[in-house]
Amino acid sequence: MHLFDNHNHSQFSFDGGRTSVEASARAAAETGLKGICFSDHCDHYVPPMKSSFEDLKPEYFDVPQQQAEIDRVQGLLGDKIQILKGIEIGMHEECHEDIRKVLSEYSFDQVLASVHYIEQTDPYYGGYYDDKDWKQAYGGYLETIYREMTWLADFDIMGHYDYIVRYAPYPVTSIRYRDFSDIFDEMFRYLIYEGKALEINTKSYEGHRGRIVELDHNVLLRYRELGGEIISLGSDSHEPSRVSAGFTHHAALLKSLGFRWSAHYESRKLIQLPL
Ligand SMILES: [Zn+2]
Repeated sequence: MHLFDNHNHSQFSFDGGRTSVEASARAAAETGLKGICFSDHCDHYVPPMKSSFEDLKPEYFDVPQQQAEIDRVQGLLGDKIQILKGIEIGMHEECHEDIRKVLSEYSFDQVLASVHYIEQTDPYYGGYYDDKDWKQAYGGYLETIYREMTWLADFDIMGHYDYIVRYAPYPVTSIRYRDFSDIFDEMFRYLIYEGKALEINTKSYEGHRGRIVELDHNVLLRYRELGGEIISLGSDSHEPSRVSAGFTHHAALLKSLGFRWSAHYESRKLIQLPL
């Protein structure tokens, strides 16, 4: 597999206790990946409601420590695997200053931008869905990603646009192109014009408590129709066994839809490798 898994969490993520840079990088080498990126969580805003479900911990990490550990493991594994320095920056309107600060202070190979917390809620625990139907909930999430990413601009990959479906209470298990065509078109035009990647996050399609998110192929077809060619594959692994999960299936799917490349960034420069 000439693929990079661009979305992995290590011990530096607040929820990364099941793995380490070394364990997941070794797993990546064993599965035949060409590269792995550690995009540890960096959310400066954490909704207060989360504290009624679990003990709150800071959800950002010590970047120099994580990068030093990546250097150490790269030295151990040599040319068996290429390890990239990443960050998953959690976008939220209440922490713009912190986001700018961390991105200007440190250098990364790639910056993955995503939304985990929305309207002072953690969708994992609900709240966000309470006063909305599926269309309002999914549409609101896409609008929030669009608003925050165009504010941020300083990122490479738009993360898991369908994250909000994973934990939703509705029978609709997919963000379909036809239901949100206007906002998808705006997102895609922005990504394409700016040379940024659309992420396929394979974790969503594995299911959560029996709920499996479906990837609407029309979303990908429309992206390609508008000229989109930059796709980033990410497993969103928090344990070594999930590194590159679902990649064989999704690489074949992308090829069948006419995509030719899988993307990653090195020192923030786009690299396209054949699928
Ligand atoms: Zn995420």
